[in-house]
Amino acid sequence: MHTSALVLFSGGQDSTTCLAQALAKYRRVETIGFDYRQRHHVELQARLRVLSEIRRQFPQWAEKLGQDHLLDLAVLGEVSDTSLTRDTAFKMEQNGLPNTFVPGRNLLFLTLAAAVAYRRDLQVLVTGVCETDFSGYPDCRDDTMKAMQLALSLGMDKRFLIDTPLMWIDKTDTWAMAHMLGETSGVVQGGDALVQLIIEHTHTCYLGDREHRHAWGYGCGTCPACLLRARGYEGFLQP
Ligand code: ZN
Repeated sequence: MHTSALVLFSGGQDSTTCLAQALAKYRRVETIGFDYRQRHHVELQARLRVLSEIRRQFPQWAEKLGQDHLLDLAVLGEVSDTSLTRDTAFKMEQNGLPNTFVPGRNLLFLTLAAAVAYRRDLQVLVTGVCETDFSGYPDCRDDTMKAMQLALSLGMDKRFLIDTPLMWIDKTDTWAMAHMLGETSGVVQGGDALVQLIIEHTHTCYLGDREHRHAWGYGCGTCPACLLRARGYEGFLQP
């Protein structure tokens, strides 16, 4: 059976929920992140804070949580021109994709993650990609993930599984999933603890805003990522 996993971990709400799910499900878990010169290093700081808070607050998970890998992907800035890496404002493009879209970014991330997983002998790649949200990024679709799983398994001659716990759920259910996972963590009132950890320490705002604190966490409150997170949290509080 699959017992070890590498979680693609950005420090956002989604990948933190995926990390919790992996810690509940697998025996050995490592994390990987990518520094592609995001306009805001807020994300990279968030991922370190989330890892240390999980270690501090969830002792049973801490035992399973191994090495964190951070890869330098400055090259992504050379091949893309998006609001995540340049000083252009966030907007929706005519093709219906946000201009934060870096073509094929997740394909690159998964390939590099698989190379690290191969070396570390980890069997499952866990990623928070999702078809349900507004974005419709083509490299987050279920078919793309299935094709990548096959390509990576064939190309590295090692059987990989790509685990996508959030693929078919919305943000309200992502909050609920985090609460449920926290409840099974062995910590008293772990559900509330994990939800609070996500509110306080994860980061999703496209503008990198850490000044404005809302009930659902920090962010500008108006970018699409903030709106999704806020609406999801409202739904979670009033099901
Ligand atoms: Zn925002």
